[in-house]
Amino acid sequence: MTHSFDTLILGGGAAGLMCAIEAGKRRRRVAVFEHADRLGKKILISGGGRCNFTNVHCRPENFLSSNPHFAKSALARYTPADFIALVEKHRIPYHEKALGQLFCNRSARDILGMLEAECRDAAVSIFLNSNIQQVERTTDFVLRTANAEFRAPVLVVATGGLSIPKIGATSLGYDLARQFGLAIREPWPGLVPLTLSDEDRSRYCDLAGVSAEVVAACAGQQFREKMLVTHRGLSGPAILQISSYWKKPQPILIDLAPEREVTASFRDSKTPRNLVTLRTELRKFLAHRFADRWLDAHAPISWTNHALANLEKETHAWAISPAGTEGYEKAEVTAGGVDTDELSPKTMESRNIPGLFFIGEVVDVTGHLGGFNFQWAWASGAAAGRAL
Ligand SMILES: Cc1cc2nc3c(=O)[nH]c(=O)nc-3n(C[C@H](O)[C@H](O)[C@H](O)COP(=O)(O)OP(=O)(O)OC[C@H]3O[C@@H](n4cnc5c(N)ncnc54)[C@H](O)[C@@H]3O)c2cc1C
Repeated sequence: MTHSFDTLILGGGAAGLMCAIEAGKRRRRVAVFEHADRLGKKILISGGGRCNFTNVHCRPENFLSSNPHFAKSALARYTPADFIALVEKHRIPYHEKALGQLFCNRSARDILGMLEAECRDAAVSIFLNSNIQQVERTTDFVLRTANAEFRAPVLVVATGGLSIPKIGATSLGYDLARQFGLAIREPWPGLVPLTLSDEDRSRYCDLAGVSAEVVAACAGQQFREKMLVTHRGLSGPAILQISSYWKKPQPILIDLAPEREVTASFRDSKTPRNLVTLRTELRKFLAHRFADRWLDAHAPISWTNHALANLEKETHAWAISPAGTEGYEKAEVTAGGVDTDELSPKTMESRNIPGLFFIGEVVDVTGHLGGFNFQWAWASGAAAGRAL
């Protein structure tokens, strides 16, 4: 049996639902296909269960992409204020945390409930537990599931990235891009904890749980936030942010005492130049156990001004070479994806295959930590939905 629609959307996550709502409001007959047994599972686990649904300071600079201009148009036409208006229309209580991040007061369920209600109002058809077996293009796009066939002149791919396979991530979006001849920028795990070499792990990782405010830098980017020692390496917002830019075997430079001078007291000739003094100074900026452990490996070779200046430099640029990342199992996002050169920045439609759209995380646009990935999902979903 064949069912006809105006638009078939693959993936019932953030971007797919936003696209469905916008297209449905324009009276398009829209069908959303989700292989899980419910919509928006990633929304439910996001932001520690409270969904950091946008960031009021959203700017194009908060995104990585091989074309940094690509996201500008969609982000300008669906802004954080637009999403906040929707949240307020549904009377969802929210609050601003640090750095412009907006979270639900109660639960991420509020955001999913809002999207589901908007889909109902827009008469969107939802097909859960959809096992998509084949997609092809004849005059229309034809999609086959285990027990039915669906047709439409428009196909929107919103199946997200590869992160967190245990809640349903698959490679379908990339597979379809390849099937239709679209180029892909090789994906990699982003916003992900980093693992350390055996040597560094045995030096630091029994301190798991210790944190410090640092500046983490690599590839011309830097983030001043918290770093956390884990059982296998480093995490915390500063490390998650920089992980999106990190490529093996680059080192990451970590400023352990941002805007502070660790060796300042040694300028006083009465200050004894020894490890006890240095340890006391470093402990002013770092957790005691971490300060001690770091000094074990970085004690100056002498107490000359030159040696102290080198140590000062090292505390502000501790070069650590991660062994790897915790991978897609732990990554909050997948960087890379469908090459933006293949898509219209206004509508997300393929330049070469009319009617084929890619939105959300499957596209080579990746946000920083802090609500930016959802803002991209809403904005790219709205851009496509309004163009249908
Ligand atoms: C733990 C965690 C916390 C996060 N917290 C935040 C946060 O607080 N703020 C923020 O901005 N971002 C956060 N993110 C990132 C954010 O969730 C994603 O960037 C965003 O959900 C991407 O939206 P999307 O619609 O493109 O993909 P998704 O939301 O992943 O939706 C894709 C949908 O497609 C479905 N699908 C996949 N394969 C198939 C298939 N073969 N057939 C049918 N359906 C399929 C999936 O089941 C899923 O429902 C978080 C991510 C994780 C993993």
